[in-house]
Amino acid sequence: MISSVLPTYARAPLSFVKGEGSWLMDSDNRRYLDMGAGIAVNILGHANPVLADALKSQADTLWHTSNLYNVPNQTALADRLVDATFADTVFFTNSGTESMECAVKMARKFHHENGAPERVNMIAFNGAFHGRSLGMISAAGAEKLTAGFGPLLPGFTHVDFADLDAVEAAVDETTAAIIVEPVQGEGGIVPAEDAFLRGLRELCDAQGILLILDEIQCGMGRSGKLFAHEWAGITPDIMAVAKGIGGGFPLGACLATERAASGMVAGTHGSTYGGNPLATAVGSAVLDVVNTPAFLQEVTARAGEMRQGLEGLVASHPDVFKSVRGVGLMLGVECVVPNMDVVNAGYEASLLTVPGGGNVIRLLPALNITSDEIKQALACLEKTAQLIEAKL
Ligand SMILES: *Cc1c(COP(=O)(O)O)cnc(C)c1O
Repeated sequence: MISSVLPTYARAPLSFVKGEGSWLMDSDNRRYLDMGAGIAVNILGHANPVLADALKSQADTLWHTSNLYNVPNQTALADRLVDATFADTVFFTNSGTESMECAVKMARKFHHENGAPERVNMIAFNGAFHGRSLGMISAAGAEKLTAGFGPLLPGFTHVDFADLDAVEAAVDETTAAIIVEPVQGEGGIVPAEDAFLRGLRELCDAQGILLILDEIQCGMGRSGKLFAHEWAGITPDIMAVAKGIGGGFPLGACLATERAASGMVAGTHGSTYGGNPLATAVGSAVLDVVNTPAFLQEVTARAGEMRQGLEGLVASHPDVFKSVRGVGLMLGVECVVPNMDVVNAGYEASLLTVPGGGNVIRLLPALNITSDEIKQALACLEKTAQLIEAKL
């Protein structure tokens, strides 16, 4: 008999009843060190008191009014995001997928309004993940996302990640935009080289194409900069954000330059909940904490500690771990044994990690994780490796 919840997830046999910072507690009060943070979502840890206060005080005041009216919290968060980034304007959503859908619609509309209605096609990359709507599985293109769900949305071409020549060869007079994750997340924590991102920017400028970045997983301070593209010294025309932006409250955003957004006039797009008072109250509280030089420096410091420790683990357990890659606190450890064996053994060692493509385990902790907690995570991973070695 089918479960009451549609069985689309291969869930671990764990359920948590309480969270505190980087820790999750199950009903037996067993504590797990959470290095997944709800897949890069709880960037300020579980039950963060600053965010809880922001949510509670908004909950006592006003929950929802719709976008028929001005939403002051939404305007305040948009102003902050515009101040902090390349963007001139923001559309709020409830998820990453919706932020990407807005980005693709915006790019097509831009060309439609600018005398190039034939520019409707997007170039995207093998190994990418952009969400689960029909549009976004079409954008990513992988068989494991699309099988059985056709017909897919036309207008997406796929080339190998980081292959600038292949992108150039794929561009033609129908190309509207290039869609890229600066660090592929689900694909297995694969950072794009700075030179590749710069090459994409130059190509877009030369050909009149828009550059859409998907920073849903790598953005919001995870790389040690507010957004990962800042490391390459480029800016996109459009950028999708979600996950960490709400710190655990469902919130997403599509950020854009004034030029790229010029077709998105009244009536062209909308969302009932997008940017509602609760979500944007929390979003502003998150951004206030994350977007300070001191906070981002701490992220980079913790990332260095973690990376060094992981390199040591790989060196001492070559039969379990193969290599480390990533940026900031978005780290992937490629495994020798099946990655799910490592994730499952991690549970025994009271450690939560997330599997990813390329036989990787992902470490995406809360950005305010302490040095001591990183040491504990490394000790749990050591124990995990020993558990696996005992069975080899
Ligand atoms: C998680 C993710 C998405 C989809 O976000 P949802 O909130 O699940 O819709 C899209 N792109 C990237 C890079 C992601 O990591």
